[in-house]
Amino acid sequence: MMESAGLKSLIRARADALGFVSCRVTRPRVDRMHADALQQWVAADMQGEMTWMAEENRLQRRRQPESMLANVRSVITVAMPYSAPDYGLDEASAARAHGVITAYAHGDDYHDVMKKRLKALAAELDALLGRHDQRVFVDTAPVLEHALAERAGLGWQGKHSLTIDRQLGSWFLLGEIFTTAELEADEAALNHCGSCSACMDICPTGAIVAPYVVDARLCISYLTIEFDGFIPRHLRPLMGNRIYGCDDCQLVCPWNGYAAKGAGVLRDRRIGPSSASRPDPEADPLRPRRENHLPDLASLLRLDEDGFRQRFRKSPVRRTKRRGLLRNVCIAMGNSGQVAFVDALMQALQDGEPLIRGHAAWALGRLAHAQNRQAIIRAMTACAASEANQQVLEEVETSIRQMNKTDGVT
Ligand code: SF4
Ligand code: SF4
Repeated sequence: MMESAGLKSLIRARADALGFVSCRVTRPRVDRMHADALQQWVAADMQGEMTWMAEENRLQRRRQPESMLANVRSVITVAMPYSAPDYGLDEASAARAHGVITAYAHGDDYHDVMKKRLKALAAELDALLGRHDQRVFVDTAPVLEHALAERAGLGWQGKHSLTIDRQLGSWFLLGEIFTTAELEADEAALNHCGSCSACMDICPTGAIVAPYVVDARLCISYLTIEFDGFIPRHLRPLMGNRIYGCDDCQLVCPWNGYAAKGAGVLRDRRIGPSSASRPDPEADPLRPRRENHLPDLASLLRLDEDGFRQRFRKSPVRRTKRRGLLRNVCIAMGNSGQVAFVDALMQALQDGEPLIRGHAAWALGRLAHAQNRQAIIRAMTACAASEANQQVLEEVETSIRQMNKTDGVT
């Protein structure tokens, strides 16, 4: 077997060639601090409807990575970068007729891309490490990946809960290979958040309830992607035009500012080997698709099931299904102040999906003004007469009540 440091640099070179910008090694252990933080987070119900996160056997596995593979000795943790948005916070929120999709979802689904690349790396490890067992994980497995990445020195977990590297910033995704081979462990990363609280201050919903603690129930990423019901009414105005995820806490993080100035490390290395053999950037599946750059809300609300499937083919956005995305689009329209959306929202009141009808009713209530209010109330009253879904009915009646109140009718 090759000498350990030489072996590790070979593994790093292979990881680099596959498009991973960082590759570090640690033991399969989670520090007490991370294990306790997970326990407290779940005890406070901050996982919301992601109930699988609170299941005891999955918690146990997160706390004890060694339970994921018999005789595991080393964890190789890798970072796969994606492009930061090419707009800032101000531009995104000023584009009121448009929706904001989180940057990692601008290209193809990273799960597929990451898994393919990790498997390719694992195949190379078989040749390099000789006889060993290994397992590959992307973020769906019960692995406390930020804690392992920190232990491996890949980056520290910032106050917004994502992993940050001083050179790379935080625009990357994590993956792991667990192996029974004994590899030399790297040094843990130090935390460089210091007294900064920019992410906590900017968060539109106050979801970062304490440093390093994100209450998923308030986080727009959770609300727009993982949560599949009626979004609490008091949170809707705070969501602005974010229709799939949210990047605000990353956009304000000074370490992403430094990374952007640092000669575009991520942009240059997004594709793979830092040699002349680097593949054509056009072929990169994570390359942002132009149509996901602040997409027009009106055209999204027109999507039927087939249209949705085609528009978001291979995209992570499929996760919300049409009904989840169009629910979010209705909220963004309601927050837009654009009266031009009223006709489209009136049509959405007839949609087959209760989730879309209910949020369209809320949005119409927000866009009502002196000239159109009575017409909206009439249309919604007619809808209420034939509405069979209790939640939608409540949405419609609440909106009508609020509009009547504005008009002085009690
Ligand atoms: S993703 Fe958005 S809502 Fe969630 S913690 Fe970050 S800034 Fe707050
Ligand atoms: S914005 Fe500041 S506090 Fe938040 S993760 Fe970045 S450095 Fe840490």
